[in-house]
Amino acid sequence: MKSFAFESQPSRVVFGEGSFAQLPLEVERLGAKRVMLVSTPGRSSLATRARELLPKFIVESFERAIVHVPQDVALTAREAASRSNADLLVALGGGSAIGVAKSVAIKSGIPILAVPTTYGGSEMTPIWGMTEEGKKETGRNPRAQPRVVIYDPSLTLSLPARTTSCSGLNAIAHCVEALYAPDSNSLTTSAALEGLRLLATALPLLHATLDDREQRGDALRGAWLAGFALGTVQMGLHHKLCHTLGGAFSLPHAETHAVLLPYTAAFNRDAAAAEMRMAARALDVEDAPIELFSLARNIDAPRTLKELGMQESDLDRAADLAVERQYPNPAPITRDGIRVLLDAAFRGDGEYVTAI
Ligand code: NAD
Repeated sequence: MKSFAFESQPSRVVFGEGSFAQLPLEVERLGAKRVMLVSTPGRSSLATRARELLPKFIVESFERAIVHVPQDVALTAREAASRSNADLLVALGGGSAIGVAKSVAIKSGIPILAVPTTYGGSEMTPIWGMTEEGKKETGRNPRAQPRVVIYDPSLTLSLPARTTSCSGLNAIAHCVEALYAPDSNSLTTSAALEGLRLLATALPLLHATLDDREQRGDALRGAWLAGFALGTVQMGLHHKLCHTLGGAFSLPHAETHAVLLPYTAAFNRDAAAAEMRMAARALDVEDAPIELFSLARNIDAPRTLKELGMQESDLDRAADLAVERQYPNPAPITRDGIRVLLDAAFRGDGEYVTAI
């Protein structure tokens, strides 16, 4: 029998079409008086809507969040929070906006209300990340866990096709790794399987019709479950590899997840045989890694590290970096094994996924 310890995260989730309109209610519920908005430049129209909804509360609007939270951006955001004496951070956007809000929260203790607009899942986790001189550090801190999350599927209608596919596969990767996590439990496994099922069903339908509201709702519900699993259990090889490639070679976050997922799943196929069978049942197929490879192809996600800008000459260093630290993973991690996996992902070699 598997033993486990489970601590539920203190976060309130408000889910529903149009639920963004509940922002003022949720701000008041938290007893906040002075709100700092945090968003990326691309979400400025959402920030404007938030200002209209919260005319008496906004004391600062920080719209310069960028991916991977560079240290100078975190410092500027912290100064803005302190200068404005903010008592609540409202993060509007994907993992980039939420990540900058987290960098403020872990130093100041100011709570976060997150309104996610991608499927990345950061809103459900106490995980923070920050980049300094090309190296991304991550950690867990309860202060980084948003206290309230408003999921409004209508805010995801504007996600372009490629971001929809890549961000959705990023969420599926949380589900797959949660299944074989050493500290998984019945709750995280159920969430991961349902998240996997919802996302794998919704993504091809969204690929055909990006503004399908029903499927946007299902995909976001899948992303919530995936984020819950990500925030609760330890991630393995897949997340560590993506993190290494993103930090050291500046590869884009969700796209890197999208490319690597079939390869890391195939790498773990035998060592996590029972969990891979569960994943296959949730996907209603014989073999989960092969299905993930087909799914990525069917929704036009990027399929090679090469097209993401990785240089073949960097694969050796990437393999070295990936084995620098130990982390839990079903299949033993060897430098040679990772080098072969990276080579296959660099070229988009489907035979690796079928044959390993
Ligand atoms: P993102 O926030 O960087 O957004 C990707 C792009 O999509 C951006 O150009 C953004 O402006 C745009 N976008 C976002 N929402 C949109 C919408 N509704 N319509 C149109 N365009 C929209 O992407 P992400 O993948 O959510 O986040 C990536 C970052 O989050 C990385 O730094 C990653 O490390 C971090 N992350 C952290 C965690 C965690 O638990 N700490 C989890 C997942 C991701």
